[in-house]
Amino acid sequence: MTRGDARELTRLLRRIDGRGYRAYKEIGGAWELEGCSLVIDHVQGDPFADPSRVRVRVPGTRSQLPPWACQAGSRSAGLASHLARTFARHASKVRARGSGKSGRIEMESPGQEVLAQSAVSVAGDGGVEARFRVGLPATGRRVLADEASRLLLEEVPRLVDQSLVFGAYEPDSLRLVVETNEDADALRTLLGGLGLLAFVADGSVLPRASGVDDRPLREGPVVPFGSPPTLRVELDLPNAGRVSGMGIPEGVTVITGGGYHGKSTLLRALERGVYNHRPGDGREKVVTDPHAVKVRAEDGRSVSGVDISPFIGRLPFGGTTDAFSTANASGSTSQAAAIVEALEAGATALLVDEDTTATNFMIRDRRMQALVPKAGEPITPFVDRVRQLHESRGVSCVLVIGGSGDYLEVADTVVAMREYRAIDVTEEARAVVSAFPTGRLVEVSTTVPPLPRRLPERRSIDPRYGRRDVHVRVHATHRIRLGTSDLDLTAVEQIVCPAQTRALAAALALAREFMDGEKSVPEVLDRVMEAVDLDGLDVLDPRQVGDLAAFRRHELAAALNRLRALEVTVVPR
Ligand code: ADP
Ligand code: MG
Repeated sequence: MTRGDARELTRLLRRIDGRGYRAYKEIGGAWELEGCSLVIDHVQGDPFADPSRVRVRVPGTRSQLPPWACQAGSRSAGLASHLARTFARHASKVRARGSGKSGRIEMESPGQEVLAQSAVSVAGDGGVEARFRVGLPATGRRVLADEASRLLLEEVPRLVDQSLVFGAYEPDSLRLVVETNEDADALRTLLGGLGLLAFVADGSVLPRASGVDDRPLREGPVVPFGSPPTLRVELDLPNAGRVSGMGIPEGVTVITGGGYHGKSTLLRALERGVYNHRPGDGREKVVTDPHAVKVRAEDGRSVSGVDISPFIGRLPFGGTTDAFSTANASGSTSQAAAIVEALEAGATALLVDEDTTATNFMIRDRRMQALVPKAGEPITPFVDRVRQLHESRGVSCVLVIGGSGDYLEVADTVVAMREYRAIDVTEEARAVVSAFPTGRLVEVSTTVPPLPRRLPERRSIDPRYGRRDVHVRVHATHRIRLGTSDLDLTAVEQIVCPAQTRALAAALALAREFMDGEKSVPEVLDRVMEAVDLDGLDVLDPRQVGDLAAFRRHELAAALNRLRALEVTVVPR
Protein backbone atom coordinates (compact mmCIF):
# COMPACT_ATOMS: atom_id res chain seq x y z
CA MET A 1 0.00 0.00 0.00
CA THR A 2 1.54 3.27 -1.03
CA ARG A 3 0.58 6.46 0.70
CA GLY A 4 0.95 8.74 -2.27
CA ASP A 5 3.41 10.34 -4.62
CA ALA A 6 6.19 12.89 -4.30
CA ARG A 7 3.76 15.83 -4.27
CA GLU A 8 1.84 14.36 -1.40
CA LEU A 9 4.99 13.63 0.57
CA THR A 10 6.12 17.23 0.03
CA ARG A 11 2.76 18.51 1.18
CA LEU A 12 2.88 16.35 4.29
CA LEU A 13 6.40 17.50 5.10
CA ARG A 14 5.39 21.14 4.71
CA ARG A 15 2.52 20.57 7.08
CA ILE A 16 4.79 19.26 9.85
CA ASP A 17 7.51 21.88 9.25
CA GLY A 18 8.76 23.40 12.52
CA ARG A 19 6.89 20.92 14.66
CA GLY A 20 8.55 18.71 17.28
CA TYR A 21 10.79 16.03 15.78
CA ARG A 22 8.37 13.24 16.56
CA ALA A 23 6.02 14.63 13.92
CA TYR A 24 8.33 12.93 11.40
CA LYS A 25 6.68 9.67 12.45
CA GLU A 26 3.85 10.72 10.13
CA ILE A 27 5.92 10.16 7.00
CA GLY A 28 6.43 6.44 7.71
CA GLY A 29 5.30 4.05 4.97
CA ALA A 30 5.69 3.64 1.22
CA TRP A 31 5.74 6.49 -1.30
CA GLU A 32 5.69 6.28 -5.06
CA LEU A 33 8.37 8.53 -6.52
CA GLU A 34 9.27 8.88 -10.16
CA GLY A 35 10.86 5.63 -11.23
CA CYS A 36 11.19 4.11 -7.78
CA SER A 37 9.39 3.66 -4.53
CA LEU A 38 10.59 4.98 -1.23
CA VAL A 39 9.76 3.03 1.91
CA ILE A 40 10.31 4.71 5.25
CA ASP A 41 10.42 1.74 7.59
CA HIS A 42 11.36 3.37 10.84
CA VAL A 43 11.60 7.01 11.86
CA GLN A 44 14.21 7.93 14.41
CA GLY A 45 13.00 9.42 17.72
CA ASP A 46 15.22 12.46 17.66
CA PRO A 47 17.92 14.00 15.47
CA PHE A 48 20.73 12.51 17.55
CA ALA A 49 19.44 8.92 17.51
CA ASP A 50 20.38 6.29 14.92
CA PRO A 51 19.18 7.67 11.57
CA SER A 52 15.86 6.49 10.11
CA ARG A 53 15.68 3.22 8.18
CA VAL A 54 14.70 3.70 4.57
CA ARG A 55 14.51 1.52 1.46
CA VAL A 56 14.17 2.29 -2.20
CA ARG A 57 12.82 -0.15 -4.72
CA VAL A 58 13.74 0.28 -8.33
CA PRO A 59 11.88 -1.91 -10.82
CA GLY A 60 13.80 -3.70 -13.55
CA THR A 61 12.12 -1.53 -16.16
CA ARG A 62 13.82 1.47 -14.58
CA SER A 63 17.18 -0.09 -13.58
CA GLN A 64 17.64 -1.62 -17.06
CA LEU A 65 20.10 -4.05 -15.52
CA PRO A 66 20.60 -6.76 -18.14
CA PRO A 67 19.77 -10.43 -17.47
CA TRP A 68 23.42 -11.52 -17.70
CA ALA A 69 24.18 -9.39 -14.65
CA CYS A 70 21.19 -10.43 -12.60
CA GLN A 71 21.42 -14.22 -12.77
CA ALA A 72 20.80 -15.65 -9.33
CA GLY A 73 23.89 -16.84 -7.46
CA SER A 74 27.43 -15.66 -8.06
CA ARG A 75 26.58 -13.02 -10.64
CA SER A 76 23.85 -11.14 -8.84
CA ALA A 77 25.75 -11.42 -5.55
CA GLY A 78 28.76 -9.75 -7.15
CA LEU A 79 26.57 -7.13 -8.77
CA ALA A 80 24.63 -6.32 -5.59
CA SER A 81 27.82 -5.90 -3.62
CA HIS A 82 29.17 -3.53 -6.26
CA LEU A 83 25.98 -1.46 -6.33
CA ALA A 84 26.11 -1.19 -2.53
CA ARG A 85 29.70 0.00 -2.60
CA THR A 86 28.88 2.59 -5.24
CA PHE A 87 25.74 3.81 -3.47
CA ALA A 88 27.62 4.06 -0.17
CA ARG A 89 30.41 6.06 -1.77
CA HIS A 90 28.07 8.61 -3.32
CA ALA A 91 25.89 8.74 -0.20
CA SER A 92 28.86 9.63 1.98
CA LYS A 93 29.17 12.90 0.07
CA VAL A 94 25.59 14.02 0.71
CA ARG A 95 25.32 16.90 3.15
CA ALA A 96 22.40 18.89 4.48
CA ARG A 97 21.75 21.55 7.09
CA GLY A 98 20.62 20.70 10.56
CA SER A 99 21.47 19.39 13.98
CA GLY A 100 22.58 15.96 15.13
CA LYS A 101 22.67 13.45 12.29
CA SER A 102 20.58 15.66 10.01
CA GLY A 103 21.08 15.08 6.35
CA ARG A 104 23.23 11.99 6.52
CA ILE A 105 22.59 9.16 4.15
CA GLU A 106 24.42 6.03 5.19
CA MET A 107 24.67 2.66 3.55
CA GLU A 108 26.73 -0.23 4.86
CA SER A 109 29.58 -0.46 2.40
CA PRO A 110 31.11 -3.84 1.61
CA GLY A 111 34.86 -4.11 2.15
CA GLN A 112 37.24 -5.92 -0.17
CA GLU A 113 35.35 -9.19 0.26
CA VAL A 114 32.26 -9.89 -1.80
CA LEU A 115 29.69 -11.35 0.56
CA ALA A 116 25.97 -11.83 0.28
CA GLN A 117 24.69 -8.73 2.12
CA SER A 118 21.42 -7.03 2.88
CA ALA A 119 22.16 -3.44 1.81
CA VAL A 120 21.40 -4.02 -1.86
CA SER A 121 19.69 -6.96 -3.48
CA VAL A 122 19.11 -7.58 -7.15
CA ALA A 123 16.27 -9.74 -8.46
CA GLY A 124 16.36 -11.83 -11.61
CA ASP A 125 14.24 -9.27 -13.48
CA GLY A 126 16.67 -6.46 -12.66
CA GLY A 127 14.62 -5.08 -9.79
CA VAL A 128 16.82 -3.55 -7.11
CA GLU A 129 16.15 -2.92 -3.45
CA ALA A 130 18.53 -0.72 -1.50
CA ARG A 131 18.41 -0.27 2.26
CA PHE A 132 20.07 2.62 4.02
CA ARG A 133 19.68 5.18 6.77
CA VAL A 134 18.67 8.79 6.53
CA GLY A 135 19.16 11.40 9.23
CA LEU A 136 15.91 13.34 8.92
CA PRO A 137 16.87 17.02 9.13
CA ALA A 138 16.11 19.19 12.16
CA THR A 139 16.91 22.58 13.56
CA GLY A 140 17.42 21.89 17.21
CA ARG A 141 14.70 19.30 17.72
CA ARG A 142 12.24 20.67 15.15
CA VAL A 143 11.31 19.34 11.75
CA LEU A 144 13.17 21.02 8.90
CA ALA A 145 10.81 20.28 6.04
CA ASP A 146 12.56 21.90 3.08
CA GLU A 147 15.78 20.04 3.85
CA ALA A 148 13.86 16.79 4.30
CA SER A 149 12.16 17.25 0.93
CA ARG A 150 15.45 17.95 -0.73
CA LEU A 151 17.02 14.89 0.86
CA LEU A 152 14.23 12.40 0.17
CA LEU A 153 13.00 13.74 -3.13
CA GLU A 154 16.19 14.99 -4.77
CA GLU A 155 19.21 13.37 -3.13
CA VAL A 156 17.77 9.86 -2.88
CA PRO A 157 16.63 9.76 -6.52
CA ARG A 158 20.03 11.15 -7.49
CA LEU A 159 21.71 8.27 -5.62
CA VAL A 160 19.47 5.87 -7.50
CA ASP A 161 20.64 7.39 -10.78
CA GLN A 162 24.27 7.30 -9.69
CA SER A 163 24.37 3.75 -8.44
CA LEU A 164 21.34 1.54 -8.96
CA VAL A 165 20.75 1.73 -12.71
CA PHE A 166 22.68 0.26 -15.60
CA GLY A 167 23.30 3.66 -17.15
CA ALA A 168 25.43 4.68 -14.17
CA TYR A 169 28.16 2.24 -15.14
CA GLU A 170 30.52 1.41 -17.93
CA PRO A 171 29.03 -1.88 -19.16
CA ASP A 172 32.50 -3.46 -19.20
CA SER A 173 33.07 -2.63 -15.56
CA LEU A 174 29.83 -4.37 -14.56
CA ARG A 175 30.75 -7.33 -16.69
CA LEU A 176 34.06 -7.59 -14.87
CA VAL A 177 32.29 -7.44 -11.50
CA VAL A 178 29.90 -10.30 -12.21
CA GLU A 179 32.38 -12.42 -14.12
CA THR A 180 35.05 -12.07 -11.46
CA ASN A 181 32.66 -13.25 -8.80
CA GLU A 182 31.43 -16.12 -10.92
CA ASP A 183 34.99 -17.22 -11.67
CA ALA A 184 35.98 -17.18 -8.00
CA ASP A 185 33.08 -19.43 -7.06
CA ALA A 186 33.86 -21.75 -9.96
CA LEU A 187 37.50 -21.86 -8.95
CA ARG A 188 36.64 -22.83 -5.41
CA THR A 189 34.42 -25.67 -6.53
CA LEU A 190 37.26 -27.04 -8.68
CA LEU A 191 39.63 -27.45 -5.72
CA GLY A 192 38.27 -30.66 -4.21
CA GLY A 193 38.30 -32.64 -7.45
CA LEU A 194 41.96 -31.78 -7.96
CA GLY A 195 42.98 -32.73 -4.44
CA LEU A 196 43.77 -29.10 -3.69
CA LEU A 197 43.23 -27.15 -0.55
CA ALA A 198 43.87 -23.76 -2.10
CA PHE A 199 44.87 -22.02 -5.29
CA VAL A 200 46.85 -18.80 -5.69
CA ALA A 201 46.82 -17.49 -9.24
CA ASP A 202 49.97 -16.18 -10.84
CA GLY A 203 49.97 -12.41 -10.80
CA SER A 204 47.92 -12.12 -7.62
CA VAL A 205 48.80 -9.24 -5.31
CA LEU A 206 48.78 -10.53 -1.75
CA PRO A 207 50.19 -7.77 0.48
CA ARG A 208 47.79 -5.15 1.83
CA ALA A 209 48.22 -1.38 2.03
CA SER A 210 48.64 -1.53 5.81
CA GLY A 211 47.57 -3.40 8.90
CA VAL A 212 44.41 -1.28 9.00
CA ASP A 213 43.81 -0.87 5.29
CA ASP A 214 42.75 -3.98 3.43
CA ARG A 215 43.24 -2.54 -0.04
CA PRO A 216 46.17 -3.86 -2.08
CA LEU A 217 49.67 -2.58 -1.41
CA ARG A 218 50.64 -0.10 -4.11
CA GLU A 219 53.67 1.68 -2.72
CA GLY A 220 57.21 0.42 -3.14
CA PRO A 221 58.13 -2.65 -5.10
CA VAL A 222 55.17 -5.02 -5.01
CA VAL A 223 56.04 -8.55 -6.08
CA PRO A 224 53.11 -10.25 -7.83
CA PHE A 225 52.66 -13.89 -6.95
CA GLY A 226 54.41 -16.46 -9.12
CA SER A 227 53.92 -20.19 -8.75
CA PRO A 228 56.85 -22.58 -8.40
CA PRO A 229 56.81 -24.81 -11.51
CA THR A 230 56.47 -28.01 -9.49
CA LEU A 231 53.28 -26.80 -7.80
CA ARG A 232 51.85 -25.09 -10.85
CA VAL A 233 48.38 -26.07 -11.99
CA GLU A 234 46.30 -24.74 -14.84
CA LEU A 235 42.55 -24.39 -14.55
CA ASP A 236 39.76 -23.33 -16.84
CA LEU A 237 37.37 -20.67 -15.63
CA PRO A 238 34.01 -19.81 -17.18
CA ASN A 239 35.00 -16.22 -18.00
CA ALA A 240 38.73 -15.69 -17.60
CA GLY A 241 39.55 -18.92 -19.42
CA ARG A 242 42.79 -20.68 -18.57
CA VAL A 243 44.61 -19.49 -15.44
CA SER A 244 47.78 -20.81 -13.87
CA GLY A 245 48.90 -20.63 -10.30
CA MET A 246 50.09 -22.52 -7.26
CA GLY A 247 47.92 -25.38 -6.09
CA ILE A 248 48.39 -26.20 -2.44
CA PRO A 249 47.66 -29.92 -2.13
CA GLU A 250 45.59 -31.40 0.65
CA GLY A 251 47.71 -32.77 3.50
CA VAL A 252 50.25 -30.95 5.61
CA THR A 253 51.88 -27.92 4.06
CA VAL A 254 54.60 -25.87 5.70
CA ILE A 255 55.27 -22.31 4.53
CA THR A 256 58.75 -21.40 5.62
CA GLY A 257 61.46 -18.86 4.85
CA GLY A 258 63.24 -15.95 6.45
CA GLY A 259 61.57 -13.31 8.58
CA TYR A 260 59.80 -10.56 6.61
CA HIS A 261 59.87 -12.57 3.39
CA GLY A 262 56.08 -12.78 3.02
CA LYS A 263 55.04 -15.96 4.85
CA SER A 264 52.24 -14.48 6.91
CA THR A 265 51.05 -12.46 3.94
CA LEU A 266 50.55 -15.66 1.95
CA LEU A 267 48.75 -17.36 4.83
CA ARG A 268 46.50 -14.34 5.34
CA ALA A 269 45.54 -14.44 1.69
CA LEU A 270 44.62 -18.11 2.14
CA GLU A 271 42.53 -17.24 5.21
CA ARG A 272 40.60 -14.69 3.19
CA GLY A 273 40.40 -17.06 0.23
CA VAL A 274 37.29 -18.58 1.77
CA TYR A 275 35.59 -15.40 0.49
CA ASN A 276 35.51 -13.81 -2.96
CA HIS A 277 37.13 -10.48 -3.67
CA ARG A 278 36.19 -7.44 -5.72
CA PRO A 279 37.95 -6.74 -9.01
CA GLY A 280 41.20 -4.89 -8.43
CA ASP A 281 41.73 -6.38 -4.99
CA GLY A 282 44.62 -8.56 -6.11
CA ARG A 283 43.17 -11.68 -4.47
CA GLU A 284 40.31 -12.30 -6.93
CA LYS A 285 41.78 -15.65 -7.87
CA VAL A 286 43.08 -16.72 -4.50
CA VAL A 287 40.65 -19.31 -3.24
CA THR A 288 40.67 -21.70 -0.32
CA ASP A 289 38.60 -24.65 0.83
CA PRO A 290 35.43 -23.01 2.21
CA HIS A 291 35.84 -24.94 5.45
CA ALA A 292 39.39 -23.80 6.16
CA VAL A 293 39.64 -22.27 9.61
CA LYS A 294 42.38 -20.11 11.06
CA VAL A 295 43.28 -21.22 14.55
CA ARG A 296 45.51 -19.45 16.99
CA ALA A 297 46.41 -19.05 20.63
CA GLU A 298 44.28 -16.58 22.55
CA ASP A 299 45.18 -16.54 26.21
CA GLY A 300 42.51 -15.15 28.48
CA ARG A 301 39.55 -16.46 26.49
CA SER A 302 36.90 -18.65 28.08
CA VAL A 303 36.38 -22.31 27.15
CA SER A 304 33.30 -24.40 27.95
CA GLY A 305 33.44 -28.17 28.18
CA VAL A 306 35.86 -28.81 25.30
CA ASP A 307 37.70 -32.12 25.09
CA ILE A 308 41.27 -30.95 24.66
CA SER A 309 42.72 -34.27 25.89
CA PRO A 310 44.15 -35.20 22.47
CA PHE A 311 46.53 -32.27 22.97
CA ILE A 312 46.68 -31.66 26.67
CA GLY A 313 46.40 -34.47 29.18
CA ARG A 314 46.27 -34.40 32.94
CA LEU A 315 46.90 -30.94 34.42
CA PRO A 316 48.80 -30.29 37.66
CA PHE A 317 46.89 -31.56 40.70
CA GLY A 318 44.99 -34.08 38.62
CA GLY A 319 42.73 -31.76 36.62
CA THR A 320 41.20 -33.65 33.69
CA THR A 321 40.83 -32.18 30.24
CA ASP A 322 38.16 -34.24 28.47
CA ALA A 323 35.59 -31.55 29.28
CA PHE A 324 37.82 -28.61 29.86
CA SER A 325 36.33 -25.33 31.04
CA THR A 326 38.07 -22.16 32.06
CA ALA A 327 37.40 -18.46 32.26
CA ASN A 328 41.03 -17.74 31.51
CA ALA A 329 42.74 -20.10 29.10
CA SER A 330 46.49 -20.18 28.67
CA GLY A 331 48.22 -19.92 25.32
CA SER A 332 48.39 -23.67 24.85
CA THR A 333 44.93 -24.56 26.20
CA SER A 334 43.33 -21.81 24.11
CA GLN A 335 44.99 -23.08 20.97
CA ALA A 336 44.00 -26.66 21.74
CA ALA A 337 40.41 -25.54 22.32
CA ALA A 338 40.37 -23.57 19.08
CA ILE A 339 41.45 -26.64 17.13
CA VAL A 340 38.98 -29.01 18.77
CA GLU A 341 36.16 -26.49 18.34
CA ALA A 342 37.03 -26.08 14.68
CA LEU A 343 36.95 -29.86 14.17
CA GLU A 344 33.61 -30.01 15.96
CA ALA A 345 32.14 -27.39 13.65
CA GLY A 346 33.31 -29.32 10.60
CA ALA A 347 36.56 -27.66 9.56
CA THR A 348 38.33 -29.60 6.82
CA ALA A 349 41.51 -27.55 6.99
CA LEU A 350 43.37 -25.64 9.69
CA LEU A 351 45.49 -22.57 9.04
CA VAL A 352 48.18 -21.82 11.60
CA ASP A 353 50.76 -19.03 11.77
CA GLU A 354 53.65 -19.32 14.19
CA ASP A 355 53.27 -15.58 14.89
CA THR A 356 50.07 -16.35 16.80
CA THR A 357 50.73 -19.73 18.35
CA ALA A 358 51.88 -20.97 21.73
CA THR A 359 55.38 -22.39 21.25
CA ASN A 360 54.94 -25.17 23.82
CA PHE A 361 51.81 -26.28 22.01
CA MET A 362 53.58 -26.45 18.67
CA ILE A 363 56.88 -28.11 19.45
CA ARG A 364 58.87 -30.12 22.00
CA ASP A 365 62.31 -30.87 20.76
CA ARG A 366 64.71 -33.66 21.65
CA ARG A 367 66.45 -31.77 24.41
CA MET A 368 63.21 -30.76 26.11
CA GLN A 369 62.04 -34.34 25.89
CA ALA A 370 65.20 -35.34 27.74
CA LEU A 371 64.98 -32.66 30.41
CA VAL A 372 61.21 -32.81 31.06
CA PRO A 373 60.08 -36.40 30.58
CA LYS A 374 56.68 -37.04 29.00
CA ALA A 375 55.26 -38.06 32.40
CA GLY A 376 55.65 -34.47 33.63
CA GLU A 377 54.39 -32.74 30.50
CA PRO A 378 50.65 -32.72 29.81
CA ILE A 379 51.06 -31.36 26.28
CA THR A 380 51.21 -33.55 23.20
CA PRO A 381 52.70 -31.08 20.75
CA PHE A 382 50.84 -30.33 17.56
CA VAL A 383 53.77 -31.65 15.52
CA ASP A 384 52.78 -35.14 16.70
CA ARG A 385 49.10 -34.71 15.78
CA VAL A 386 49.12 -32.82 12.53
CA ARG A 387 49.70 -35.87 10.29
CA GLN A 388 47.14 -37.91 12.19
CA LEU A 389 44.54 -35.22 11.67
CA HIS A 390 44.99 -35.66 7.96
CA GLU A 391 45.32 -39.42 7.88
CA SER A 392 42.49 -40.31 10.23
CA ARG A 393 40.13 -37.37 9.76
CA GLY A 394 41.01 -35.92 6.39
CA VAL A 395 41.78 -32.52 7.91
CA SER A 396 44.57 -30.69 6.11
CA CYS A 397 46.82 -28.09 7.65
CA VAL A 398 48.81 -25.16 6.33
CA LEU A 399 51.38 -23.89 8.80
CA VAL A 400 53.70 -20.92 8.71
CA ILE A 401 56.85 -22.12 10.44
CA GLY A 402 60.15 -20.30 10.26
CA GLY A 403 61.53 -21.39 13.60
CA SER A 404 61.33 -25.16 13.99
CA GLY A 405 62.72 -27.75 11.64
CA ASP A 406 60.78 -30.47 13.43
CA TYR A 407 57.83 -29.67 11.18
CA LEU A 408 59.79 -30.50 8.04
CA GLU A 409 59.48 -34.13 9.08
CA VAL A 410 55.69 -34.12 9.03
CA ALA A 411 55.09 -31.99 5.95
CA ASP A 412 53.88 -33.30 2.59
CA THR A 413 54.72 -30.02 0.92
CA VAL A 414 57.18 -27.32 1.92
CA VAL A 415 56.99 -23.90 0.30
CA ALA A 416 59.68 -21.34 1.06
CA MET A 417 59.09 -17.64 0.65
CA ARG A 418 62.21 -15.85 -0.53
CA GLU A 419 61.91 -12.13 -1.16
CA TYR A 420 58.17 -12.61 -1.64
CA ARG A 421 58.68 -15.39 -4.16
CA ALA A 422 57.35 -18.87 -3.52
CA ILE A 423 59.75 -21.77 -4.03
CA ASP A 424 58.96 -25.45 -3.73
CA VAL A 425 61.58 -26.79 -1.31
CA THR A 426 59.88 -30.09 -0.53
CA GLU A 427 62.75 -32.17 -1.91
CA GLU A 428 65.37 -30.05 -0.19
CA ALA A 429 63.47 -30.35 3.07
CA ARG A 430 63.44 -34.15 2.76
CA ALA A 431 67.19 -34.13 2.23
CA VAL A 432 67.67 -31.90 5.27
CA VAL A 433 65.51 -34.19 7.38
CA SER A 434 67.68 -37.20 6.56
CA ALA A 435 70.96 -35.29 6.85
CA PHE A 436 70.14 -33.86 10.28
CA PRO A 437 68.15 -36.36 12.31
CA THR A 438 66.78 -34.70 15.43
CA GLY A 439 66.45 -37.87 17.47
CA ARG A 440 63.09 -36.59 18.56
CA LEU A 441 60.66 -39.20 19.91
CA VAL A 442 57.08 -39.23 18.66
CA GLU A 443 54.94 -38.82 21.75
CA VAL A 444 51.63 -40.44 20.84
CA SER A 445 50.65 -43.79 19.53
CA THR A 446 46.86 -43.39 19.58
CA THR A 447 44.94 -41.39 17.04
CA VAL A 448 42.60 -38.52 17.90
CA PRO A 449 39.46 -40.19 19.29
CA PRO A 450 35.95 -39.10 18.25
CA LEU A 451 34.87 -35.91 20.00
CA PRO A 452 32.27 -35.97 22.74
CA ARG A 453 28.94 -34.30 21.93
CA ARG A 454 28.53 -30.89 23.53
CA LEU A 455 24.94 -29.85 24.14
CA PRO A 456 24.72 -26.10 24.67
CA GLU A 457 22.24 -24.96 27.30
CA ARG A 458 19.78 -22.33 26.26
CA ARG A 459 19.47 -20.67 29.64
CA SER A 460 23.18 -19.95 29.73
CA ILE A 461 22.74 -17.47 26.89
CA ASP A 462 20.75 -14.46 27.92
CA PRO A 463 20.19 -11.84 25.24
CA ARG A 464 17.79 -9.80 27.41
CA TYR A 465 18.54 -6.24 28.36
CA GLY A 466 16.13 -3.98 30.21
CA ARG A 467 12.72 -4.49 28.68
CA ARG A 468 14.02 -6.03 25.48
CA ASP A 469 14.01 -9.77 24.91
CA VAL A 470 16.83 -9.64 22.47
CA HIS A 471 19.37 -6.88 22.62
CA VAL A 472 22.49 -7.06 20.51
CA ARG A 473 24.93 -4.31 19.70
CA VAL A 474 28.00 -4.39 17.57
CA HIS A 475 30.70 -1.92 18.46
CA ALA A 476 33.32 -2.74 15.88
CA THR A 477 34.30 -5.59 13.59
CA HIS A 478 35.25 -7.69 16.58
CA ARG A 479 32.99 -6.66 19.45
CA ILE A 480 29.50 -7.80 20.28
CA ARG A 481 27.31 -6.99 23.21
CA LEU A 482 24.65 -9.62 23.73
CA GLY A 483 22.23 -8.82 26.53
CA THR A 484 24.51 -7.58 29.27
CA SER A 485 27.65 -9.45 28.29
CA ASP A 486 30.50 -8.50 26.00
CA LEU A 487 31.96 -10.84 23.46
CA ASP A 488 35.47 -10.26 22.17
CA LEU A 489 36.08 -11.70 18.71
CA THR A 490 39.44 -10.07 18.06
CA ALA A 491 41.10 -13.47 17.63
CA VAL A 492 38.51 -14.71 15.13
CA GLU A 493 40.49 -13.54 12.18
CA GLN A 494 38.19 -14.65 9.40
CA ILE A 495 35.50 -12.19 10.46
CA VAL A 496 35.97 -9.45 7.91
CA CYS A 497 33.52 -6.60 8.44
CA PRO A 498 31.08 -5.09 10.94
CA ALA A 499 28.10 -6.24 8.87
CA GLN A 500 29.25 -9.81 9.27
CA THR A 501 29.68 -9.31 13.00
CA ARG A 502 26.18 -7.84 13.24
CA ALA A 503 24.78 -10.89 11.47
CA LEU A 504 26.74 -13.15 13.81
CA ALA A 505 25.32 -11.34 16.82
CA ALA A 506 21.79 -11.86 15.57
CA ALA A 507 22.63 -15.45 14.65
CA LEU A 508 23.65 -16.14 18.23
CA ALA A 509 20.20 -15.10 19.37
CA LEU A 510 18.69 -17.38 16.72
CA ALA A 511 21.01 -20.24 17.68
CA ARG A 512 19.69 -19.94 21.21
CA GLU A 513 16.20 -20.72 19.92
CA PHE A 514 17.40 -24.07 18.59
CA MET A 515 19.10 -25.12 21.81
CA ASP A 516 16.91 -27.70 23.48
CA GLY A 517 19.36 -29.67 25.59
CA GLU A 518 19.44 -32.40 22.93
CA LYS A 519 21.05 -30.75 19.95
CA SER A 520 24.81 -30.62 19.89
CA VAL A 521 26.80 -27.56 18.88
CA PRO A 522 27.15 -28.69 15.22
CA GLU A 523 23.44 -29.52 15.06
CA VAL A 524 22.56 -26.04 16.30
CA LEU A 525 24.93 -24.56 13.71
CA ASP A 526 23.22 -26.65 11.01
CA ARG A 527 19.83 -25.21 11.94
CA VAL A 528 20.97 -21.62 11.85
CA MET A 529 22.79 -22.04 8.55
CA GLU A 530 19.76 -23.81 7.02
CA ALA A 531 17.50 -20.97 8.11
CA VAL A 532 19.79 -18.38 6.53
CA ASP A 533 20.17 -20.46 3.35
CA LEU A 534 16.45 -20.81 3.01
CA ASP A 535 15.20 -17.36 3.93
CA GLY A 536 18.24 -15.16 3.55
CA LEU A 537 19.76 -12.77 6.02
CA ASP A 538 16.36 -11.26 6.84
CA VAL A 539 15.66 -14.34 8.94
CA LEU A 540 18.08 -12.80 11.43
CA ASP A 541 16.21 -9.55 11.81
CA PRO A 542 12.53 -9.12 10.97
CA ARG A 543 12.99 -5.37 10.52
CA GLN A 544 14.58 -5.90 7.09
CA VAL A 545 17.74 -4.05 7.96
CA GLY A 546 20.48 -3.20 5.48
CA ASP A 547 23.53 -3.80 7.59
CA LEU A 548 23.99 -7.57 7.61
CA ALA A 549 26.45 -9.73 5.69
CA ALA A 550 26.80 -13.47 5.24
CA PHE A 551 28.97 -15.51 7.58
CA ARG A 552 30.19 -19.10 7.79
CA ARG A 553 29.22 -21.68 10.36
CA HIS A 554 32.82 -21.56 11.59
CA GLU A 555 32.64 -17.95 12.69
CA LEU A 556 29.28 -18.59 14.31
CA ALA A 557 30.83 -21.50 16.21
CA ALA A 558 33.74 -19.28 17.20
CA ALA A 559 31.37 -16.62 18.54
CA LEU A 560 29.27 -19.14 20.43
CA ASN A 561 32.34 -20.80 21.93
CA ARG A 562 33.65 -17.49 23.20
CA LEU A 563 30.51 -16.53 25.10
CA ARG A 564 31.70 -16.36 28.67
CA ALA A 565 28.39 -17.56 30.05
CA LEU A 566 28.10 -20.57 27.74
CA GLU A 567 27.37 -23.82 29.51
CA VAL A 568 27.30 -27.19 27.82
CA THR A 569 26.44 -30.73 28.82
CA VAL A 570 29.15 -33.06 27.64
CA VAL A 571 28.09 -36.51 26.43
CA PRO A 572 31.06 -38.84 25.93
CA ARG A 573 31.19 -40.82 22.69
P1 ADP B 1 56.88 -12.91 7.38
O1 ADP B 1 55.61 -13.50 7.91
O2 ADP B 1 57.62 -13.83 6.48
O3 ADP B 1 57.77 -12.38 8.46
P2 ADP B 1 55.17 -10.90 6.20
O4 ADP B 1 54.25 -11.72 5.41
O5 ADP B 1 54.67 -10.33 7.47
O6 ADP B 1 56.55 -11.64 6.47
O7 ADP B 1 55.64 -9.74 5.23
C1 ADP B 1 56.56 -8.75 5.61
C2 ADP B 1 56.27 -7.44 4.88
O8 ADP B 1 56.43 -7.60 3.50
C3 ADP B 1 54.89 -6.92 5.08
O9 ADP B 1 54.93 -5.54 5.32
C4 ADP B 1 54.19 -7.21 3.77
O10 ADP B 1 53.18 -6.26 3.49
C5 ADP B 1 55.30 -7.12 2.77
N1 ADP B 1 55.05 -8.02 1.63
C6 ADP B 1 54.59 -9.28 1.69
N2 ADP B 1 54.46 -9.81 0.46
C7 ADP B 1 54.87 -8.85 -0.41
C8 ADP B 1 54.96 -8.78 -1.83
N3 ADP B 1 54.60 -9.82 -2.59
N4 ADP B 1 55.40 -7.63 -2.38
C9 ADP B 1 55.75 -6.59 -1.59
N5 ADP B 1 55.69 -6.58 -0.27
C10 ADP B 1 55.25 -7.70 0.34
MG1 MG C 1 54.99 -13.70 9.93
